[in-house]
Amino acid sequence: MKPDLFQAPDYYNIDDLLTEEHKLIRDAAREWVKRDVSPIIENYAQKAEFPKQIISGLAEIGAFGPYIPEEFGGAGLDQISYGLIMQEIERGDSGVRSTASVQSSLVMYPIFTYGNEEQRKKYLPKLASGEWMGSFGLTEPNHGSNPGGMETNFKDKGDHYVLNGAKMWISNAPFCDVAVVWAKNEAGRIHGLIVERGMEGFSTPETHNKWSLRASATGELIFDNVKVPKENLLPNKSGLGAPLGCLDSARYGISWGAIGAAMDCYDTALRFAKEREQFGKPIAQFQLQQKKLAEMITEITKAQLLAWRLGTLKNEGKATSAQISMAKRNNVEMALKVAREARQILGGMGISGDYAIMRHMMNLESVVTYEGTHDIHLLITGLDITGLNGFK
Ligand SMILES: Cc1cc2nc3c(=O)[nH]c(=O)nc-3n(C[C@H](O)[C@H](O)[C@H](O)COP(=O)(O)OP(=O)(O)OC[C@H]3O[C@@H](n4cnc5c(N)ncnc54)[C@H](O)[C@@H]3O)c2cc1C
Repeated sequence: MKPDLFQAPDYYNIDDLLTEEHKLIRDAAREWVKRDVSPIIENYAQKAEFPKQIISGLAEIGAFGPYIPEEFGGAGLDQISYGLIMQEIERGDSGVRSTASVQSSLVMYPIFTYGNEEQRKKYLPKLASGEWMGSFGLTEPNHGSNPGGMETNFKDKGDHYVLNGAKMWISNAPFCDVAVVWAKNEAGRIHGLIVERGMEGFSTPETHNKWSLRASATGELIFDNVKVPKENLLPNKSGLGAPLGCLDSARYGISWGAIGAAMDCYDTALRFAKEREQFGKPIAQFQLQQKKLAEMITEITKAQLLAWRLGTLKNEGKATSAQISMAKRNNVEMALKVAREARQILGGMGISGDYAIMRHMMNLESVVTYEGTHDIHLLITGLDITGLNGFK
């Protein structure tokens, strides 16, 4: 892997929209990625392993629960700070950002928002410090885009519940200490349950043979008559809206994270194009390459503005789920296109692990599918603007 020479593009002076605190937080995350992620990540992606040694660093830069109040171990930051941290981590690798997103928005968020005081005190500080890692079980073998059809279920056995079913494609599953699991009760109502490693009948086999997010551990969550104590049910929200609320928070983070991956591809391609000579000139002088680079920075800039505005709406508590869908969909597609164009600018070198571009591109193929596929987010926008449900 080449040395990390990343210089962040900021064509529209977006930095002027940020506070000094935002910039300090962003720069600390950027430096950490340069120092602790960039030098090792290609090797971990190649061997399809999550680099567990970076967990404490992720906690230190505030990546676990950035917006969770400090009394529960979080960083107590606003939504723009959360977005900027996700952007910087994904600049390094989407798989590492996935680990942070799951921990923050899919595990800590539901425990903080839907949990009671005892649950918050028991789990959040350990999740914020990285002492415990979490996973989020919604997707099942037969229910991905339509999670409301889930088959995982629990039955009331008096002093405990008994949980049965299986979840698949679960980030962090192979090493998680706790899992927030969505399951139906006997009345068919969806609830969140906190399942802990070590509970009898609970296993987390790893999913192998991925060509994407190779530095993130993915697996199944299998529940075979797992006895779950009653105090592990999240009491304050039920129904499909509960997991969807978590997804809103994670999708918002992804809309920033994807910009990071795009920035890295653009920055690499720009530098390469100025240095690489063919036909006696730097390839950056050829109009065809300039078109690619000019379109990349245009799309990155538009995505930055979209994410920033969404962040301000989120800070004011006004961002709608449909607005979040639009930003996730647009920014991930933007990043994928930028990665594909950047890869071409590097010619043959574009496929080499000496540069991060191919890894970003392959990672983004998961990011465009998880947390609601590209199609599903379009249907959400379609429903929002027409009032007509195009899902079924
Ligand atoms: C690496 C990775 C990590 C993941 N991590 C997690 C995790 O931590 N937790 C978790 O719960 N899940 C996780 N997921 C699962 C992810 O959220 C699902 O893969 C995603 O929601 C899509 O579900 P599916 O794969 O079953 O595809 P399907 O829902 O079967 O969709 C297949 C295709 O059909 C399209 N489609 C579906 N319905 C419609 C419709 N109504 N109209 C038009 N087209 C439609 C989709 O857009 C897609 O193109 C992860 C996935 C990956 C790849």
